[in-house]
Amino acid sequence: MVSAADVVALRAQVSGQVLLPGEPGHDIEAFTFNLLTPLNPAVVVAASSPQDVQAAVRFAADNALGVAVRGGGHVQPDPASSAVLITLDAMNSVVIEPETRTARITGTPRWQDVLDATSGSGLAPVCGSAPTVGVVGYLLGGGQSPVLGRSHGYGSDHVTRIEMVTADGELQVVTAEHELFFALRGSKGNLGVVTAVEFTLFPVSEIYGGGLYLPGERLAEILPAWRDWAETLPEAASTSVAIQRLPPLPDLPPPLQGAFVVHIRFSYVGDAGQGAALLAPMRDLGPALIDTVGVMPYAAVGAIHSDPALPVPYCDRSIGLRELSDQTLNTLIGLAGPDSDCPLASVELRALGGALDRPPAQADAVSSRGLAYQWFAFGVGGPEDAPGLRAYLARCIDELTPWADERRLLTFLSPDEGGTRDELSAIYGPEVYERLLIVKQKYDPQNMFRSNHNILA
Ligand SMILES: Cc1cc2nc3c(=O)[nH]c(=O)nc-3n(C[C@H](O)[C@H](O)[C@H](O)COP(=O)(O)OP(=O)(O)OC[C@H]3O[C@@H](n4cnc5c(N)ncnc54)[C@H](O)[C@@H]3O)c2cc1C
Repeated sequence: MVSAADVVALRAQVSGQVLLPGEPGHDIEAFTFNLLTPLNPAVVVAASSPQDVQAAVRFAADNALGVAVRGGGHVQPDPASSAVLITLDAMNSVVIEPETRTARITGTPRWQDVLDATSGSGLAPVCGSAPTVGVVGYLLGGGQSPVLGRSHGYGSDHVTRIEMVTADGELQVVTAEHELFFALRGSKGNLGVVTAVEFTLFPVSEIYGGGLYLPGERLAEILPAWRDWAETLPEAASTSVAIQRLPPLPDLPPPLQGAFVVHIRFSYVGDAGQGAALLAPMRDLGPALIDTVGVMPYAAVGAIHSDPALPVPYCDRSIGLRELSDQTLNTLIGLAGPDSDCPLASVELRALGGALDRPPAQADAVSSRGLAYQWFAFGVGGPEDAPGLRAYLARCIDELTPWADERRLLTFLSPDEGGTRDELSAIYGPEVYERLLIVKQKYDPQNMFRSNHNILA
């Protein structure tokens, strides 16, 4: 526990806020996007500078506490009750340098902040589907862009510099020559608190993208057609398909309110006519309830998936799939189709491949290269619904296991998985895991950074 005297001493060392449970502002700093995984830290430091982060880490070390970091708050597997929670929103900034096509962020801005800053510059980041996700949390896990991933690889492939505070309280500058550069791109929050990142942007201002919402009752006909078509797409085109049971919310267009749909997502980085020609076989499947595919600014990329924009309570799981055979699809249809009792809001398949299979310029800890597809599903509900949702997600994974790979996209690991050494080692692959372990033991021997998918001996 943290005593009042400790807090007085800590307050004297930091210029940002130091907040104990119950104090005004505490709950705002300790928020999570997933309302099923609340944080309940011993104390919060809302850092306003890298020096505040250093003081907070040293305070944790002196008091035998862990250190947790909250960015966008999407994956907090641990309530951090014996930890100092460091938040960095007071440090948030995004600076774009068009000449060098570089973005520099400080703190933990969300992707929408970067999209807003790049809007009009003709440049785009390799960001994910949800603009609410934190830039740092995404990049530390690799980061798979559903629009630029197949043409440009993982988000972390384009990171050029990371500034961070390690467990000894020192501020490190990590570039390609540093031994931490390998580990940071994939090890998530295991090695320290990142205070700034620089990464390359790409010359993309508009894309041809959006979604086709088709009646869910037609799933058995649509899914094989989608798979056969997805396998023909060039790298500049990307697609995923989601079987969705949408809520009856008034902010959805009327045909989608409370509807059961097959949502085919599509994007093409290039000429709109060519994009439309590529999408034609899916449009030919028949009239969509809604067709949102058209020319759009890259800054609006979040509209393609339309992930939840506000915090919700949810349970999620994912797996990597080596292939999508007819049997795989039939299994999925049985699990999530019109005749199932599926309680999940969304069951998604992302087609991967292209540059996502190619090695980065410098070795990293991202282990999902070579996976053909990702399966990702989530269900929305409070604590009373969570056991049922978790059981259904586990059943899905169990039934899809014959086609699954042990490796997975690291950013999609949910709070409900990756909790043991064996599981994490299989996800990273033993070779990468052993290398991560060596770095972890050197830079964080006391395992201060443990409120995450923890790399353990
Ligand atoms: C709706 C939705 C859509 C998504 N779409 C995609 C997608 O398209 N592609 C993809 O790759 N991923 C996707 N994700 C997964 C997402 O990228 C990860 O969950 C990511 O780790 C979330 O980061 P965060 O900062 O928002 O969450 P947080 O829970 O705040 O952080 C996640 C982890 O990163 C660590 N972390 C965050 N900031 C720092 C920091 N400054 N220093 C050290 N550690 C830090 C945290 O400690 C935590 O362990 C999606 C997730 C959701 C919920």
